[in-house]
Amino acid sequence: MIKITLFSTQPYDRRFFDAAADPSIEFTYQEAALTPHSIALAEGADGVCVFVNDVLDASVLEGLASLNVRAVFLRCAGYNNVDLATARRLGIQVARVPAYSPEAVAEHAVALIMTLNRRTHRAFNRVREGNFNLDGLLGVTLHGRTAGIIGTGKIGIATARILKGFGCRLLAHDPMPSPEFETLGELVSLEQVIAQSDILSLHCPLLPATHHMINARTLAAMKPGAMLVNTSRGGLIDTRAVIEALKSRQLGALAIDVYEQEAGLFFKDRSSDIIDDDIFGRLMTFPNVLVTGHQGFFTVEALTEITAVTLDNIRAFRDGRVSGNEVAVQV
Ligand code: NAD
Repeated sequence: MIKITLFSTQPYDRRFFDAAADPSIEFTYQEAALTPHSIALAEGADGVCVFVNDVLDASVLEGLASLNVRAVFLRCAGYNNVDLATARRLGIQVARVPAYSPEAVAEHAVALIMTLNRRTHRAFNRVREGNFNLDGLLGVTLHGRTAGIIGTGKIGIATARILKGFGCRLLAHDPMPSPEFETLGELVSLEQVIAQSDILSLHCPLLPATHHMINARTLAAMKPGAMLVNTSRGGLIDTRAVIEALKSRQLGALAIDVYEQEAGLFFKDRSSDIIDDDIFGRLMTFPNVLVTGHQGFFTVEALTEITAVTLDNIRAFRDGRVSGNEVAVQV
């Protein structure tokens, strides 16, 4: 029997993990996120199972190691929240779910583009109130527009395929591009994709090199009035600089499923709380900003796959087998 403490448990996590139950794995579900204050909840566990906003920095990993926790199982693809060097030093194995449904995230990115472009979220509210005025709902025809993709991995390619179907001209930048992109569009420099895109969609991981890749300088280099879409990780965008670009009308629209300071804000009902984050509050005042709370992954298919792969990662760790989903520190 291997014991796993699952942090940041939502009702749907429990539902999917219970449905896939493996009698040789004992889960303890904790609603709390893993932070320096909640490490003790992992007492007695062999491994912890975590999500995007759980904290796995050096101090948390050292705390886990002192409880004899030997493995971290991420229920997600991105691992920017894990200090891999410290995990390796402490002998803690880290495994992730590298691809669960790239189409789920790509479809959400396109849903954001479609909603924000044609203002269907605003139209919905207007019509419910008997207001059939079209003023303020003007969009552009996506057919023939230039869409730029930064990062041609699994999600970037899935997004490009959908936008190709709309008849968009596609540009992309990636230091290690997927060969498939060449059948969809043109690979160009970062400067070119930023300067030429009517819609710029981010699909690269958050790394030291990509942190704030969208900043005052790159925003100024964008096509005036372009739309910026981020379903990847909040830290790719300098949110303060984006607010200035929205105020100056240089940036035409912003659609985000991820936000730099989303930890502590997303995945909870905060409708009765006073939200202290003034930057988030300012974003909410723009009529041309659309925010969803990190739901790109949230489909039945993706949750089924996340659960199945996580269980297999746990079994592989227990049996001393390599799953291929282990994350190694980059040296
Ligand atoms: P992937 O590893 O398949 O692809 C990432 C691509 O980015 C690779 O081709 C890589 O070469 C490229 N890249 C790396 N550095 C780059 C740079 N400086 N500039 C441009 N491209 C660069 O990853 P994926 O499965 O396509 O996922 C992409 C990101 O989406 C993940 O890192 C994760 O943060 C995010 N994600 C979000 C959700 C959500 O629910 N919103 C769900 C899953 C993943």
